[in-house]
Amino acid sequence: MKELVIVSGKGGTGKTSISAALACLAPQKVMVDCDVDAANFHLVSGATIKETHAFTAGFQPHIDEQVCTHCGKCIGLCRFGAITAGVITTPLNCEGCGVCAFNCPEHAIAMQEKQAGHWFISDTRFGCLIHAELGLAVENSGKLVSKIRQEAKKIAAAEQLPLIITDGPPGIGCPAIAALSGATLALAVVEPSLSSMHDLARLTDLVAHFQLPIAVCINKSTLHQENTEQIRTWCHSKAIPIFAQIPYSDTFRSAIQAGKTVLEVLEGDVTNELTELWQNIASRLNIPPNDSKFDLLRRKFNIFR
Ligand code: SF4
Ligand code: SF4
Repeated sequence: MKELVIVSGKGGTGKTSISAALACLAPQKVMVDCDVDAANFHLVSGATIKETHAFTAGFQPHIDEQVCTHCGKCIGLCRFGAITAGVITTPLNCEGCGVCAFNCPEHAIAMQEKQAGHWFISDTRFGCLIHAELGLAVENSGKLVSKIRQEAKKIAAAEQLPLIITDGPPGIGCPAIAALSGATLALAVVEPSLSSMHDLARLTDLVAHFQLPIAVCINKSTLHQENTEQIRTWCHSKAIPIFAQIPYSDTFRSAIQAGKTVLEVLEGDVTNELTELWQNIASRLNIPPNDSKFDLLRRKFNIFR
């Protein structure tokens, strides 16, 4: 089983649009949306939720009001102002350190597992999607990313699907690390801006840490030809293959607004580049791209599964 992780050093490069387009083109796969802080893959793939699961991470105090004597000790000990009036916690302030529970003279405080979000298994136009929603002001997005990747692997194994397409989180923090570890190939989506070029260098270092192969897709390449050339030169100097160079198109935005992928609303250069991108990926992963006749039929009748 192979896992392609689509990443970008920053948000706004078109990563999810490209992930969704690849989901259109790839046969037999499971998809995962690891951008758990701002998931939107389900919006462009027409997801219908089949299963909802709670995600717990970290701990929060529960004060037993029957046992609490209102001595006020916990108020003074909490460095985060999460406890007021001896018994009431302000959950968003609580860091789950457990100091209050450890020091309560009455043992009135118990640390309980905290519900930190949900993860879902959905049906989409392109097959099964695992996605998630992290709660407000909740950390542990890396743990949630690991959880949904695990679930995707289980489904892919059970259904003998050869590929997992993972829409990774932007940046190089904990969620990106959780999305990349143990994957087969990283595809970095960059745009020809100075910040994106800088982020690509950082992303490349991160991917190298995991000894993963990386390829680049330059999106919106026509917005700044000079920067596009700089990216090409830089990739060449690092022996990083460029799998596609996609011209700027307003259709990316209008497709998302319509809840569709670019491939479902567009023909022409962009479609050709995306198709070439998928063929390069399939070749690198050593998995068959679709039979071409079947591909044409799928396109004609808008069948993407
Ligand atoms: S330290 Fe314990 S007994 Fe005292 S106010 Fe806090 S919860 Fe109540
Ligand atoms: S667990 Fe820590 S942060 Fe939360 S209320 Fe207790 S002392 Fe404050």
